[in-house]
Amino acid sequence: MNERERISAKLSKFRPSLTLELKRLAGERTRLGLPVYDFGLGETKGELADHIREAGERAYREGQTMYGDPAGLPELRQAVIDWLGVGDRYNTDNVVITAGAKQSIFNVFLAICNPADTVLFDAAPWVSYQPLAIAAYASPIMVLPQAKTASHLKVTAADLKRNLKMRPHAKLFLLNSPVNPTGQLYSAEEVDALLQVCVEHRIFFVLDRLYWRLLFDGRDYPEPRIDDETRPWLIQVDGISKNFRRTGGLRIGWSVAPADVNQAMANLQSHYTAGPALPTQHSALAAISRPYDPELRDDLQRKRDLLLAEAEALPLVTVWPTPASFYSFWDVRQALGKTAPDGLVLETSDEVAAYLVRVAGVVTLSGVAFMQDGFLRVSFATPDEHIVEGLRAAADALGRLT
Ligand code: PMP
Repeated sequence: MNERERISAKLSKFRPSLTLELKRLAGERTRLGLPVYDFGLGETKGELADHIREAGERAYREGQTMYGDPAGLPELRQAVIDWLGVGDRYNTDNVVITAGAKQSIFNVFLAICNPADTVLFDAAPWVSYQPLAIAAYASPIMVLPQAKTASHLKVTAADLKRNLKMRPHAKLFLLNSPVNPTGQLYSAEEVDALLQVCVEHRIFFVLDRLYWRLLFDGRDYPEPRIDDETRPWLIQVDGISKNFRRTGGLRIGWSVAPADVNQAMANLQSHYTAGPALPTQHSALAAISRPYDPELRDDLQRKRDLLLAEAEALPLVTVWPTPASFYSFWDVRQALGKTAPDGLVLETSDEVAAYLVRVAGVVTLSGVAFMQDGFLRVSFATPDEHIVEGLRAAADALGRLT
């Protein structure tokens, strides 16, 4: 074996996270005593709710630490069905509890894809979809929308159909709604049309709905149509990481899938994780068994409005009002090709992101991480004063570009 063969061909394709360089630049500023405004976070701040923490503590105290059902606690699987309001169409044999939503997505790929099968993603796919697909020996392909800006990167049923003509080996279409990174939300009609295309082409429609409680301006989540026609092709992925405060590290997610796919995933899981840690499953059970507290959603909606008001002063950036999640996806294409005061020409959104950290201490995530050069993901799950001061610092830095 030569040196290059020590790591498998598929894993050696993985690149470390693009955020690391920005972290380094931010660290340099902190060392110099300069301000840093972090808009890079993928989670909300705040305290873990007492009942979530106590349920985990109780599980430890009561010795709930022996092996459990590899598909997850039956009472948690039932609670998932109630949380999603699908009790009339699914039962606990349709649910597998996983270590975060990530593992559910990986389970889905492993359960349904053969080597070289195509998996289709929407136009700004979340960073881990591609590595997970590759690790499952599938071939990830993005569905590109024809109307790039008009729809803020939403793909339509026509886009999906066009791509399916070119990809006869497609096995699934994965839609993330609300969308990380764009903060977009697909309407019920849009979801239905995409699901219908999948049903007609006999491919799976995988819906990652991880941020589905964080909808603004009184919106309800546009639920996918679940009936005898769609049920064999519909898989939903969800979890507790985003809709509650400080729960990402508890690592609980789940999938709701047709019984055959569910069985394959449960079998697989029995051979590797054997299910997530029981105390955190008890915490998740406590989290989703109560009526949902809209406090987090309302707080984020207020932050979204604050960000929008401040963003009006940003030169070279277009910001649209986010209907859901805690991300704003800035169109910075007007900044590309501009020159920084030190003479550096900003040619990619990686370079715009690096410039904003270096000069203003404003940490964002380059759209390149989501296959969308020309955009920046800005997380507004950050303190109000950071939003105000950070956007002013960004406006100042962008105003110095020529
Ligand atoms: N899907 C999306 C769209 C996400 O943003 C994330 C996490 N950032 C995940 C899945 C994975 O979630 P978890 O942390 O529960 O594994």
